[in-house]
Amino acid sequence: MQLKIIYSFENDLKRILDTIREIDWFNEKGYRVELPLEIDISKIKEYSEQDVSFILKNKWSDVEYKKHEIKILEEWQKYSKRLEKDLNTAGLKPAKEYIVFLTRYGVGGSYDLQGNNIVTLNVSYYERNTNRSLIVALLHEIVHINIEEYIKQNQISHEQKEKIVDMIMKKSFADDFPQEDFLQKWLYTKSLSEKSESIFNEFYPDVRSIIQKLGILGSGTI
Ligand SMILES: [Zn+2]
Repeated sequence: MQLKIIYSFENDLKRILDTIREIDWFNEKGYRVELPLEIDISKIKEYSEQDVSFILKNKWSDVEYKKHEIKILEEWQKYSKRLEKDLNTAGLKPAKEYIVFLTRYGVGGSYDLQGNNIVTLNVSYYERNTNRSLIVALLHEIVHINIEEYIKQNQISHEQKEKIVDMIMKKSFADDFPQEDFLQKWLYTKSLSEKSESIFNEFYPDVRSIIQKLGILGSGTI
């Protein structure tokens, strides 16, 4: 699995505009998002593309992105082979190349919901959140991309989906990152957590079966 890392003014502009558009959903789900400090949150929906572009032009630079690019590529060498092996063992089909957009805005990490092999990472978020590293965030988003097809097929809820990714990540990388918790506990209830873990432990590494069983569980059939 190869990485192609991209960062640009245009990409950051798009990320900010997308975040503004989705701001209610992020708030509802309890995600912290980052926007330029010059943006007044109380009037967030009033900003035009030109307004945001003007704000960003005055502060954009690629210096930090270059540093992060080097570090990510270095760490990718250490962990990508394991991820690829575990995804294959789980019956998934990892892609040959993943495109990684670096930004300083929006949520911590996200992936393309349309099925493209694209991850976006907010380097600024991980600079501030010292208990989660950028490489773990990247591996997390790549797991998402690999299971998304089955998540959609089985109508898995957002919370359940995150729980599945967290369990896969913990299984593969708990020893490499002892300081990481891997679990986004604020997202799921104790009961969802316990049911998911028991099915996961029973069927792992058959990730497709796990998702199928959790889909049935979510629909209330069992
Ligand atoms: Zn996630």
